[in-house]
Amino acid sequence: MPTAAIEEGINNQIQVELASAYTYLSMAAFFDQLALPGCTKWMQMQAREEMAHAMRLYQFLLDRGGKILLQPIEAPLHDFGTPRGAFETALEHERKVTASIHKLYALAVDEKDFATQSHLHWFIDEQVEEEKNAAEVVDAFARAGEDKSALLLIDHTLGQRRPEDEEA
Ligand code: MG
Repeated sequence: MPTAAIEEGINNQIQVELASAYTYLSMAAFFDQLALPGCTKWMQMQAREEMAHAMRLYQFLLDRGGKILLQPIEAPLHDFGTPRGAFETALEHERKVTASIHKLYALAVDEKDFATQSHLHWFIDEQVEEEKNAAEVVDAFARAGEDKSALLLIDHTLGQRRPEDEEA
């Protein structure tokens, strides 16, 4: 059984992951409005991955005999200005998610909860990828500037994204 503090921390992290899915779904709709189908697909896939992250934590807490207490999710932003602006927001968002994971890990260390520490290792590694991916797209849009054909090439490239292992 996880301690009350760990239980609360995992429930909060489930909220963070689901809120991430919400944010990426909103970004996907924003890109659809801009008629950038590759970016739309990328964001929809990202939203599904965030759902899978939430489910990993959800199942972990159930497996440990903890109680799931789902928290409210605020409405995400709906306008992100420019394609680059959306990915800058995504990068900032992922940095906050990383901080949230690290805080939960530090708590698991304090509580000597080795199972939670072990479970969170996957998330710590995943966040390195998430930040790297968002930062690379921000850089690509920065290089493209106002060049329409460069923007379309980025959109095409993002549309090539394939799902990671969907197991969760
Ligand atoms: Mg996540």
